[in-house]
Amino acid sequence: MSSSLRHVLAWAALVASAMAADSPQRPLPAAPSSAWVKRLFDGWRAPVPPRHLVGNIYYVGAIGVSSYLITTSDGHILIDTGFEDTVPIIQHSVEQLGFRLADVKIILSSHAHIDHVGGHAQMKKLTGAQIAESAADGRTLESGGADDYIQWPKDTILYTPVKVDRIVADGEQVTLGGVTLTAHLTPGHTRGATTWTMEVAEGGVTRHVVFFSSASINPGTHLLNNPLYPEFVRDFEATIEKLKALPCDIFFAPHGGQFAMAEKFARLERGEKENPFVDPAGWKKLVTEAERALRDQLAVERAAK
Ligand SMILES: [Zn+2]
Repeated sequence: MSSSLRHVLAWAALVASAMAADSPQRPLPAAPSSAWVKRLFDGWRAPVPPRHLVGNIYYVGAIGVSSYLITTSDGHILIDTGFEDTVPIIQHSVEQLGFRLADVKIILSSHAHIDHVGGHAQMKKLTGAQIAESAADGRTLESGGADDYIQWPKDTILYTPVKVDRIVADGEQVTLGGVTLTAHLTPGHTRGATTWTMEVAEGGVTRHVVFFSSASINPGTHLLNNPLYPEFVRDFEATIEKLKALPCDIFFAPHGGQFAMAEKFARLERGEKENPFVDPAGWKKLVTEAERALRDQLAVERAAK
């Protein structure tokens, strides 16, 4: 082969690989900077008034990081505590609703990222509640976020470590005062991300309620051959299938934007006859979009190989 032909072939290969890397439509995301993460988080910290959602479920979180209070005759269950500085917002919200923070007996999590469990240590101190957690996210909680696979700057992801009181397996139930929540391990966003489900009866109708774990791909995560999380693709695909199979009339999520919270709160305020949180189509759309994001990034990574 002549050197000029070799040169042309090498050039063609380079162009082809660049084009492949460009298709289908977007480049691989880079790990974000500290400043970017801080801006993102700061947009989520403001208080919002607490609300009754459905049955015995209340919103007690901040504007961009959710916390859910599930009341029972034997004390309360709290899902997610936001950042450490969300804890006073939760306390104020619980009291505004006429409940006592000291009656929180069990703390659960959607997933062990700082914006959802950063307040666990402080909340446990204030209430003496028991923390129930999946094994994988339990390790992350006890490490204060240090053992997470996420490639974000450490100064943005670490939080006060806290001891887990009870490990929950897939399908295991947590019961308090006659209220039962079921854990569905939905790993991917974190290794131990957990979707919780329960039933509520309202107006003679029983509704399937889903507290979604999150299933987004953390910016900067490489899905294929990721040495920090080699099982990522297998786990994420199984999670999507599991979410598709969950019966769901009403869903809530760790971030309001994931379940059109602002719009649904506004409809609640207008006093619509139908509970705006009944939204099985919204749930299907969310799962479909999570699956599409996975497929898209996998296609980009496979093409770039
Ligand atoms: Zn997260």
